[in-house]
Amino acid sequence: MNEFDLIDTFFKSETILPADVLLGIGDDAACLQVPPNMNLLVTTDTLVSGVHFRSEWDAYDIAYRAVCVNVSDIAAMAGEPRWATLSLTLPTVDEAWLARFAEGLKDSLTTFNTALVGGDTTRGPLAITLTIMGLTPPNAATARSGAKPGDVIMASQPLGIAALALSLLDSKGVKNEDRKQMMQALLRPMPRLDLLPFLRQYASAAIDVSDGFSADLQHICRASGVGASLRQADIPIHPLVEQYAPLDALQLALNGGDDYALCFTVPPSEFARLEAALKTAGLLCYSVGFIKEGEGLEIVGLDNKSRPLQAQGYLHF
Ligand code: ADP
Ligand code: MG
Repeated sequence: MNEFDLIDTFFKSETILPADVLLGIGDDAACLQVPPNMNLLVTTDTLVSGVHFRSEWDAYDIAYRAVCVNVSDIAAMAGEPRWATLSLTLPTVDEAWLARFAEGLKDSLTTFNTALVGGDTTRGPLAITLTIMGLTPPNAATARSGAKPGDVIMASQPLGIAALALSLLDSKGVKNEDRKQMMQALLRPMPRLDLLPFLRQYASAAIDVSDGFSADLQHICRASGVGASLRQADIPIHPLVEQYAPLDALQLALNGGDDYALCFTVPPSEFARLEAALKTAGLLCYSVGFIKEGEGLEIVGLDNKSRPLQAQGYLHF
């Protein structure tokens, strides 16, 4: 099977392309109809075998997760995903692997209403680069740089479960149903597109939690030129983290990566309205601290004393 057969077989979808894809896979470049008066968001992420996933994982999961983590970046900007390109580096043409990969890709892209419009295929050590393009109304994108002193810091969901799953990958003492839930969080981290209208209306800054909550909050702080104070008692720790790693629970929630939760800030004047709107929508987010003047992170412990907090997310270099 040559490169072109491979693309035709696995990636040139037989389904009808959305009307905004004027030219998709098969030409020198995709041609997309960007709606007038919308901003285009573009994000890309590379997943390398042995670094971001294990080669023995089901290729379906590898593809699904790659889509989730990229869509999460669009969600963090208050955008709606629309189009994707895929650059695939493969050591060999393993048709069974490619079939699983293509299925996971198709299912996840369909879930997020996103069309695959192009890509590139090369030989080399297994790596996947996905680019996702999305749309926001003009000036509605939530940047990292908008946080102001006094803003409330929010976490979109209980934290630490993906890092727990990673730490327990080879451990035997995990109940089947718990393992299932952990692996689901690790392999299908659902991007919080459900929070999109709330981000657009209320958030001053946002980021998705890929490196770890404290490290990603630190990115907001640096970009905004502010500091942050967290309250230990209010950090939402995932119940399975409390159960399986009681001694490391706070550490996993604050520093564990891969949750793809959202961390966002809300001006104090908007906070009550946000809470009411979330409640009406049947959603729950957690207020975990506030933005302050200065720089760096601190955490107010259960003893009510504040200590500096060292952000220790994952760093490649
Ligand atoms: P070119 O040589 O012009 O870059 P390629 O041979 O790389 O073209 O790709 C041919 C077509 O197939 C292009 O439209 C490209 O976007 C698409 N394509 C290549 N690899 C992939 C892939 N892994 N997934 C989706 N589309 C792909
Ligand atoms: Mg090419």
